[in-house]
Amino acid sequence: MDNHPQDLSDGCGRRIEYVRLSVTDRCDLRCTYCLPKGFVAFEEPGHWLTFDEMVRLVRIFAHLGVHRIRLTGGEPLLRRNLPALAARLNAIPGITDLSLSTNATQLARHAAALRHAGISRLNISLDSLKRERIEQINGRAAHERIMAGIMAAKAAGFAPIKINMVVLQGINDDEIDEMAGFCLAHGFILRLIETMPMGETGRTAGYLDLQPVRRRLKAHFGLIDTVLPGGGPARYLKAPDGRFSVGFITPLSQHFCDTCNRVRLSVDGTLYPCLGQDNSLALRPLLRGQATDAAIASAIRAAVASKPARHEFREAPGKILRFMSQTGG
Ligand code: SAM
Repeated sequence: MDNHPQDLSDGCGRRIEYVRLSVTDRCDLRCTYCLPKGFVAFEEPGHWLTFDEMVRLVRIFAHLGVHRIRLTGGEPLLRRNLPALAARLNAIPGITDLSLSTNATQLARHAAALRHAGISRLNISLDSLKRERIEQINGRAAHERIMAGIMAAKAAGFAPIKINMVVLQGINDDEIDEMAGFCLAHGFILRLIETMPMGETGRTAGYLDLQPVRRRLKAHFGLIDTVLPGGGPARYLKAPDGRFSVGFITPLSQHFCDTCNRVRLSVDGTLYPCLGQDNSLALRPLLRGQATDAAIASAIRAAVASKPARHEFREAPGKILRFMSQTGG
C-alpha cells in the first residue's frame, strides 16, 4: 500500500470513516427484538477473526481514512481479553476514537480495564429500569448485574455514556420519562431506538413510531434541537440549560441513510456495507489466504463503492433474515 491515507467513499459520495467491529456473535441476553429464545446457531470459533486479524484489518481501514472504531457484538464483553484488543486498536495510527457497545452484564468486572485500554465512549443498552421488565424484554434476570455495570462505568470515568433504549409499543413505552429522569440524574445521554425488521424477532417485537414521542418530549420539557459529536444517526434534543440530551434513532419513521458514514464487520470477517441490505464481502478467505494488504484494501474499496444507497426496512420488511447480533449491532 502507498503511504498516504486515502478517503474511502461510496458511489453516493458518502465518506466512510467509521467501522463497527463485532468481536463475537454470542450474547448472554435474549432480547425479544434480537435473538430468538433457544437460538444456538452461532459462528464456530475457528471462524472468529483472531485479534491479529482484526488489528491487521483495522490498520488497513485506518490507512483508507477510517478513524473511528466501535467494538460490538453479540455481547463484546463475552470475548476473552477484550481490553487487550482495545489497547492494540487504540495504538493504531489514525484511529482517534475507540468506543464500545455493551449490555453491561459483565461491565462491573471490566470497566476499569476497558477505560485504561483507551475506550472513552460507551453505549449501554438498557430497555427498562424495572427488574421484571428486563427479564421480560431481555430474556434474563440480569437487572442487578446491569445496574452494577452501569454504575461501574460511571465510576471509571467514561464520557459520554449513552443509554440505548429500544422502545417497544405497549411494553416499555410508558417508561420513557422515568428513563429520562434516570439519565438526567446520572449525567447519561438517553437514546430512543425504533425496532428494525432484522430477522423474525425484529419484525414482531413491537415497533413504535418515535416521531410522536419526540414531539411530546419536546413540548413537555421545552427541549430544543441540537447536534452532538459522535457521527452517528441519532437526532438530538436537549434541555436549554444543557443538562440533559435525548437522541432518536429512527430508521423507519425518518431514515438517515443519506448521512451514513459506516460499515460493519462481523466476527467471521464478513464486511457489510449496509445494515439493511444483504451485500457483503468475505474478508476471512483473503486474510487467511495469501492476500497482501494492498489486495485487501482494494477489495474493501470495491465493496464500499457499491454500498447501497439505503435500506428498505419499510418497503421490504421481510428482506433481512440475519439478526442484529449476527451482523454486529
Ligand atoms: N450487546 C451489545 C449491546 O447490548 O449494546 C452490542 C450489540 S447489540 C446487537 C447493539 C444494539 O442493537 C443494542 O442497543 C440493541 O438494543 C440493538 N438492537 C438489536 N436488535 C435490534 C432491532 N431489531 N432493532 C433495533 N435495535 C436492535
